[in-house]
Amino acid sequence: MTFKAEYIWIDGTEPTAKLRSKTKILGDDAKGAELPLWGFDGSSTNQAKGHASDRVLKPVFTCPDPLRGGDDVLVLCEVLNTDMTPHESNTRAALAEAEERFGAQEPIFGIEQEYTFFEGDRPLGFPVGGFPAAQGGYYCGVGSDEIFGRDVVEAHLENCLKAGLGISGINAEVMPGQWEFQVGPLAPLEVSDQLWIARWLLYRTAEDFKVSATLDPKPVKGDWNGAGAHTNFSTKAMREGYEAIITACESLGEGSKPMDHVKNYGAGIDDRLTGLHETAPWNEYSYGVSDRGASVRIPWQVERDRKGYIEDRRPNANVDPYVVTRLLVDTCCTALEK
Ligand code: ADP
Ligand code: MN
Ligand code: MN
Ligand code: MN
Ligand code: MN
Repeated sequence: MTFKAEYIWIDGTEPTAKLRSKTKILGDDAKGAELPLWGFDGSSTNQAKGHASDRVLKPVFTCPDPLRGGDDVLVLCEVLNTDMTPHESNTRAALAEAEERFGAQEPIFGIEQEYTFFEGDRPLGFPVGGFPAAQGGYYCGVGSDEIFGRDVVEAHLENCLKAGLGISGINAEVMPGQWEFQVGPLAPLEVSDQLWIARWLLYRTAEDFKVSATLDPKPVKGDWNGAGAHTNFSTKAMREGYEAIITACESLGEGSKPMDHVKNYGAGIDDRLTGLHETAPWNEYSYGVSDRGASVRIPWQVERDRKGYIEDRRPNANVDPYVVTRLLVDTCCTALEK
C-alpha cells in the first residue's frame, strides 16, 4: 500500500516567509524509514533564479497527518542548495548549531502563538462596513456575541493533538476573531519545528471552514490589540534558582542586545510595540515582575518560588521561531555560562 507524505517547507517571501507544501506518494518500503530528499522549483518561491531553479527538501520532522489519517504523514523539511549546503532562507541550520553549543544548559521554550481569522477583508466577527463593540469582553470570552471562529479553533486543536504536537493550551484573545495557542515547553528545535507544523495545520484547517488565518502583527490599526508570539524561556539553572533568572533578564538589556533582538522579532515590530495594548516601546528595554508593559516579564509565581522561567513579550506573531529561540539561547546562555 502506498501512503501520502505532505512535504512542508518555509519559502523565501520577504519580509515574512510563507509555508508551502506538496504531496509525495511513497511505497510500503518507505514506512518507518528515513524519508527521501525531494526537490522543488525555487524560482516560484523566491528561493532561486529561473536558470538555476532547483532546491532540495530535506525532511527534518515527521508526524501523523491528522487530516488524511491512516498512514499518511506531514513532513517538515529544511531547504538546501543542490550542493547540500543550507539555503540562505534556511534559519533552522543556525539554530541547530546553537542548540548543539548550549544544549548542556537544557534550554526549553513555550511559545504563545496569537493569530487572527479573516473572512474576506474583515476580521471574523467585524460587522460589514463597521466595527464591533470596543475591546474588553472578548478575551477568554464565551457566547456568540463575543466569540467568532470557535469551531475552527477546536478543529485545529484536535488536529494538532492527533499529529502528536506538544500543544499546551488555547484561548480567545482581546480582539474579536483573535485567538492563541501555546506550544511547549520543548527544546529549541522541537518547539520551532512543531510551531511551524501547527501554523500549517491552522491555515489548512481554516481552509475547510472558508476562513483564512493571519499572523499579521497589527491586523487592525487603531485601538485594537496586535498579535504577538510571547516566548517563554528557561534553562536548567533558571528552573533551579532566581539568580539565573535575573542574569538572563539583565543579559537581554546589555549593549546592542535589545536592538539585535527586536529587529529580528518579526516584520512590523514597531507597529505593534508602541507602549500601548500591553506592550513595551520597541526601542526601550525593560523587565519586571508581573509587568505586561515590560519587554520581559517575570511571572509572579516565579518570583514567589525563586525559580522558573521568563517571558519575552516582544516577538511578533509573524516571528520565525528558529530565529527567536536562537537569539535567546545565544544571549542568555552565553551570560549564564560565565
Ligand atoms: P500567559 O498568557 O499568562 O502569558 P500562557 O499560559 O499562555 O501564559 O503561556 C505560558 C507558556 O509558558 C506556556 O506555553 C508554557 O508551556 C510555558 N512554560 C511554562 N513553564 C516553562 C518553563 N519552565 N520554561 C519555558 N516555558 C515554560
Ligand atoms: Mn512542475
Ligand atoms: Mn497566553
Ligand atoms: Mn496572548
Ligand atoms: Mn503571554
